[in-house]
Amino acid sequence: MIQRKTLSPKVKEEVFRKYDGHCAYCGKVLTPNDFQVDHLIPVARERFGLYTSEELETFKNYMPACKRCNHYKRAHSLETFRKYIEEIPYKLARDNYIYKVGLDYGLIEEHPRKIIFYFEEIEKEKEELKNQKYL
Ligand SMILES: [Zn+2]
Repeated sequence: MIQRKTLSPKVKEEVFRKYDGHCAYCGKVLTPNDFQVDHLIPVARERFGLYTSEELETFKNYMPACKRCNHYKRAHSLETFRKYIEEIPYKLARDNYIYKVGLDYGLIEEHPRKIIFYFEEIEKEKEELKNQKYL
């Protein structure tokens, strides 16, 4: 078991504000008392000697996350997490009878697409603004 570093209230607050109080993954609005600090690169990677604790315990690696995203991402990489989200409609159609009934009655519409996480959109916008500044 890897001992996780306890974050100071100040660092926790900075992580909360990192994406303006939104979950870095789904973009849902968070509240300061009800969000989790996720490690973008999972801490479990340290076990395999891929990263050191110093590399993982950085502000850059800390992501504000809602409980659902943090729970669903678990110790997965961002790309595995993305794949798991993209597979949700297929998993539901495969495993859930009521979901299939909902599809039959047109109550559910599937919109398969490539998942772009909230923080990726924000980082892209920031990058575009930075580039405009120097034109
Ligand atoms: Zn979320």
